[in-house]
Amino acid sequence: MIPIKEEENKRILTGDRPTGKLHIGHYFGSLQNRVKLQNQYETFIEVADVQALTDNFNNPEKVKRNVNQIVMDQLSVGIDPNITTIFLQSMIPEIAELTVFYSNLVTIARLQRNPTVKTEIAQKKELFKESVTYGFLGYPVSQAADITAFDATIIPVGEDQLPLIEQCREIVRKFNSIYGETLKEPKAYLGENKRIKGLDGNEKMGKSLGNAIYLSDSKEEIAKKVMNAITDPARIKKDDPGDPSKCMVAYYHNLFTKNEYENICDECRKGKRGCVACKRQLISSINKELEPIREKRRYYEERPELVREILMEGTKKAQIIAKETMKKVKQAMKLDY
Ligand code: SF4
Repeated sequence: MIPIKEEENKRILTGDRPTGKLHIGHYFGSLQNRVKLQNQYETFIEVADVQALTDNFNNPEKVKRNVNQIVMDQLSVGIDPNITTIFLQSMIPEIAELTVFYSNLVTIARLQRNPTVKTEIAQKKELFKESVTYGFLGYPVSQAADITAFDATIIPVGEDQLPLIEQCREIVRKFNSIYGETLKEPKAYLGENKRIKGLDGNEKMGKSLGNAIYLSDSKEEIAKKVMNAITDPARIKKDDPGDPSKCMVAYYHNLFTKNEYENICDECRKGKRGCVACKRQLISSINKELEPIREKRRYYEERPELVREILMEGTKKAQIIAKETMKKVKQAMKLDY
């Protein structure tokens, strides 16, 4: 993790693939962190529609549909468009151009060894069947292009994504050693990235796993999801002693009802707490946290032209920076005709 002081006045790049609305896993795992960091660093958030196509190439409508949803989610949790630049990847052609240049600097074997890519390919067996696409295997190269196009030096990531940053650093070093000192080497910022479990107890909350609570879920949707959440299966009657470590309701109380968490677990263990009442309390805690987010989201949902304007303004700013980088890169590569 980077000590904040050492890195003051540096640029952050982070982003999301527009493949679905954001959920509380994103909220606790990265969005809260982004909101904090935007006041400390110049922040760029990429809506990574081109990268989303690497595993959704057969469903471009889904990617397009989710671009605005992602921007609204960002704004509703407190990303401030006056200080943070939100931009659309496909409108920055320099990123694609850099990806081509960088593809000479990395071998197929190195990409295949990348632990993050390896895990993701294994998870996408259905899509890739016998062989992975060139585009998906190469997405760390395209991420190196995203990062370096904006001279970003701080990249907030989860631990599982550290190999992607290492891959980018290798590309930068190789580029600089061949073409001369041009690109900045980024560092990973581990921050407080937490992984949040899904409603079904799965280690990961995921859009594709159907176990997520979305930031934009209505009160009714949240009530339904929590009422169906997994509790200690050994507990039949209200006064049976329970084990909160086997209960997803307890797990979420630790996120949303933090101050009362110890007491909730204690009452559960002593059989002094009914599961239905416990779930109702959780529903109310989640709604308390999400209501201001929903309210802000409603504001933007009613103003789609404003959401578009924010994205286009951010993209214009990002285009200027990417063009400057491309000029430097082409000069270094003797492509400055
Ligand atoms: Fe889970 Fe609460 Fe039931 Fe205990 S009382 S098993 S914490 S829902």
